[in-house]
Amino acid sequence: QDIQIRSYMDDLMEEFQYELEERRIEFKYMDRMESNYVVQLDGKRIQQAIRNIIGNAVKYGNEECLSVCVELSMEDGFARIQIKDNGPGIPEDRLPYIFDRFYRIDLERTKDLMSTGLGLAIAKELVESHKGKIMVSSIEGQGSCFTIMLPVVR
Ligand code: ATP
Ligand code: MG
Repeated sequence: QDIQIRSYMDDLMEEFQYELEERRIEFKYMDRMESNYVVQLDGKRIQQAIRNIIGNAVKYGNEECLSVCVELSMEDGFARIQIKDNGPGIPEDRLPYIFDRFYRIDLERTKDLMSTGLGLAIAKELVESHKGKIMVSSIEGQGSCFTIMLPVVR
Protein backbone atom coordinates (compact mmCIF):
# COMPACT_ATOMS: atom_id res chain seq x y z
CA GLN A 1 0.00 0.00 0.00
CA ASP A 2 0.91 3.66 -0.15
CA ILE A 3 2.53 4.52 3.16
CA GLN A 4 3.87 7.81 4.43
CA ILE A 5 7.34 6.68 5.34
CA ARG A 6 7.94 9.29 7.99
CA SER A 7 4.80 8.47 9.95
CA TYR A 8 5.44 4.77 9.52
CA MET A 9 8.98 5.04 10.87
CA ASP A 10 7.98 7.29 13.75
CA ASP A 11 5.52 4.69 14.99
CA LEU A 12 7.79 1.73 14.39
CA MET A 13 10.81 3.32 16.02
CA GLU A 14 8.77 4.20 19.07
CA GLU A 15 8.07 0.50 19.48
CA PHE A 16 11.75 -0.40 19.14
CA GLN A 17 12.73 2.39 21.50
CA TYR A 18 10.47 0.96 24.13
CA GLU A 19 11.62 -2.62 23.55
CA LEU A 20 15.33 -1.84 23.61
CA GLU A 21 15.27 0.58 26.49
CA GLU A 22 13.54 -2.06 28.52
CA ARG A 23 16.64 -4.17 27.92
CA ARG A 24 18.81 -1.16 28.78
CA ILE A 25 20.17 -0.84 25.28
CA GLU A 26 20.76 2.68 24.07
CA PHE A 27 18.57 3.43 21.08
CA LYS A 28 18.39 6.58 19.02
CA TYR A 29 16.15 7.46 16.10
CA MET A 30 16.80 10.45 13.90
CA ASP A 31 14.38 11.63 11.26
CA ARG A 32 16.32 13.66 8.72
CA MET A 33 13.62 13.70 6.09
CA GLU A 34 12.32 17.12 5.10
CA SER A 35 8.80 16.00 4.32
CA ASN A 36 6.55 12.98 4.39
CA TYR A 37 7.28 11.04 1.21
CA VAL A 38 5.09 8.17 0.10
CA VAL A 39 6.57 4.71 -0.32
CA GLN A 40 4.74 1.61 -1.45
CA LEU A 41 5.28 -0.97 1.20
CA ASP A 42 3.94 -3.82 3.22
CA GLY A 43 4.43 -2.48 6.72
CA LYS A 44 4.72 -5.90 8.33
CA ARG A 45 7.38 -7.08 5.91
CA ILE A 46 9.60 -4.03 6.21
CA GLN A 47 9.17 -4.19 9.95
CA GLN A 48 10.45 -7.79 9.82
CA ALA A 49 13.49 -6.76 7.77
CA ILE A 50 14.34 -4.00 10.25
CA ARG A 51 13.75 -6.38 13.14
CA ASN A 52 16.20 -8.90 11.71
CA ILE A 53 18.89 -6.24 11.42
CA ILE A 54 18.31 -4.70 14.85
CA GLY A 55 18.10 -8.22 16.29
CA ASN A 56 21.59 -8.92 14.98
CA ALA A 57 22.92 -5.68 16.46
CA VAL A 58 21.62 -6.80 19.83
CA LYS A 59 22.75 -10.41 19.43
CA TYR A 60 26.30 -9.73 18.31
CA GLY A 61 26.96 -6.58 20.29
CA ASN A 62 28.09 -6.30 23.86
CA GLU A 63 24.89 -5.67 25.80
CA GLU A 64 26.77 -3.67 28.44
CA CYS A 65 27.61 -0.78 26.17
CA LEU A 66 25.59 -1.38 23.04
CA SER A 67 24.06 1.46 21.16
CA VAL A 68 21.82 1.25 18.10
CA CYS A 69 21.09 4.26 15.98
CA VAL A 70 18.54 4.48 13.17
CA GLU A 71 18.43 7.34 10.71
CA LEU A 72 15.81 8.14 8.08
CA SER A 73 16.76 10.35 5.17
CA MET A 74 16.16 10.93 1.49
CA GLU A 75 18.70 10.00 -1.17
CA ASP A 76 18.28 10.00 -4.96
CA GLY A 77 14.56 9.23 -4.93
CA PHE A 78 14.92 6.62 -2.24
CA ALA A 79 13.91 6.69 1.39
CA ARG A 80 17.06 5.61 3.18
CA ILE A 81 16.92 3.82 6.51
CA GLN A 82 20.33 3.39 8.16
CA ILE A 83 20.78 1.11 11.14
CA LYS A 84 24.11 1.52 12.91
CA ASP A 85 25.54 -0.38 15.82
CA ASN A 86 28.75 -0.14 17.80
CA GLY A 87 29.19 -3.92 17.96
CA PRO A 88 32.13 -6.08 16.90
CA GLY A 89 31.79 -5.29 13.23
CA ILE A 90 32.19 -7.71 10.34
CA PRO A 91 35.53 -8.53 8.71
CA GLU A 92 35.80 -6.96 5.28
CA ASP A 93 36.35 -10.28 3.50
CA ARG A 94 33.06 -11.61 4.94
CA LEU A 95 30.91 -8.67 3.94
CA PRO A 96 30.07 -9.99 0.45
CA TYR A 97 28.54 -13.14 1.94
CA ILE A 98 26.49 -12.04 4.90
CA PHE A 99 23.25 -11.77 2.93
CA ASP A 100 23.65 -15.35 1.69
CA ARG A 101 21.33 -17.99 3.07
CA PHE A 102 22.73 -19.92 6.01
CA TYR A 103 25.90 -17.86 6.06
CA ARG A 104 27.21 -17.25 9.55
CA ILE A 105 30.51 -16.00 10.76
CA ASP A 106 31.68 -18.56 13.22
CA LEU A 107 33.64 -16.73 15.83
CA GLU A 108 33.84 -17.23 19.54
CA ARG A 109 31.81 -14.08 19.97
CA THR A 110 28.82 -15.87 18.44
CA LYS A 111 27.19 -16.67 21.71
CA ASP A 112 23.81 -17.86 20.60
CA LEU A 113 22.70 -21.38 19.83
CA MET A 114 19.56 -20.81 17.81
CA SER A 115 20.85 -18.91 14.81
CA THR A 116 20.23 -20.27 11.37
CA GLY A 117 22.01 -17.67 9.26
CA LEU A 118 18.78 -16.75 7.52
CA GLY A 119 17.97 -13.38 9.12
CA LEU A 120 19.79 -11.20 6.62
CA ALA A 121 18.88 -13.36 3.61
CA ILE A 122 15.23 -12.87 4.55
CA ALA A 123 15.73 -9.14 5.11
CA LYS A 124 17.28 -8.86 1.65
CA GLU A 125 14.39 -10.74 0.03
CA LEU A 126 11.83 -8.59 1.82
CA VAL A 127 13.52 -5.37 0.78
CA GLU A 128 14.09 -6.48 -2.82
CA SER A 129 10.44 -7.50 -3.14
CA HIS A 130 9.76 -3.77 -2.65
CA LYS A 131 12.18 -2.90 -5.48
CA GLY A 132 14.50 -1.71 -2.76
CA LYS A 133 18.15 -2.24 -2.00
CA ILE A 134 19.99 -3.37 1.09
CA MET A 135 23.65 -2.67 1.80
CA VAL A 136 26.17 -3.07 4.56
CA SER A 137 29.35 -1.38 5.58
CA SER A 138 31.38 -2.27 8.61
CA ILE A 139 34.66 -1.67 10.33
CA GLU A 140 35.94 -4.53 12.41
CA GLY A 141 36.11 -3.56 16.04
CA GLN A 142 33.97 -0.46 15.52
CA GLY A 143 30.54 -1.47 14.31
CA SER A 144 28.28 -2.10 11.37
CA CYS A 145 25.87 -0.03 9.35
CA PHE A 146 23.02 -1.58 7.37
CA THR A 147 21.20 0.56 4.83
CA ILE A 148 17.75 -0.09 3.37
CA MET A 149 16.72 1.98 0.36
CA LEU A 150 13.06 2.06 -0.66
CA PRO A 151 11.87 3.86 -3.80
CA VAL A 152 9.70 6.88 -3.12
CA VAL A 153 6.60 7.18 -5.31
CA ARG A 154 5.85 10.85 -4.58
P1 ATP B 1 19.40 -15.80 12.34
O1 ATP B 1 19.26 -14.36 11.96
O2 ATP B 1 18.76 -16.72 11.37
O3 ATP B 1 19.05 -16.07 13.75
P2 ATP B 1 22.20 -15.19 12.09
O4 ATP B 1 21.99 -13.99 12.93
O5 ATP B 1 23.44 -15.99 12.32
O6 ATP B 1 20.97 -16.17 12.24
P3 ATP B 1 22.09 -13.45 9.81
O7 ATP B 1 21.18 -12.55 10.56
O8 ATP B 1 21.79 -13.72 8.38
O9 ATP B 1 22.18 -14.85 10.55
O10 ATP B 1 23.57 -12.87 9.92
C1 ATP B 1 24.65 -13.55 9.25
C2 ATP B 1 25.95 -13.39 10.02
O11 ATP B 1 26.42 -12.05 9.90
C3 ATP B 1 25.81 -13.61 11.52
O12 ATP B 1 26.00 -14.97 11.85
C4 ATP B 1 26.89 -12.73 12.10
O13 ATP B 1 28.11 -13.44 12.16
C5 ATP B 1 27.04 -11.61 11.09
N1 ATP B 1 26.37 -10.37 11.52
C6 ATP B 1 25.13 -9.95 11.15
N2 ATP B 1 24.81 -8.76 11.68
C7 ATP B 1 25.87 -8.40 12.44
C8 ATP B 1 26.16 -7.26 13.27
N3 ATP B 1 25.28 -6.25 13.41
N4 ATP B 1 27.38 -7.22 13.88
C9 ATP B 1 28.26 -8.23 13.73
N5 ATP B 1 28.05 -9.34 12.98
C10 ATP B 1 26.87 -9.43 12.34
MG1 MG C 1 20.29 -12.73 12.54
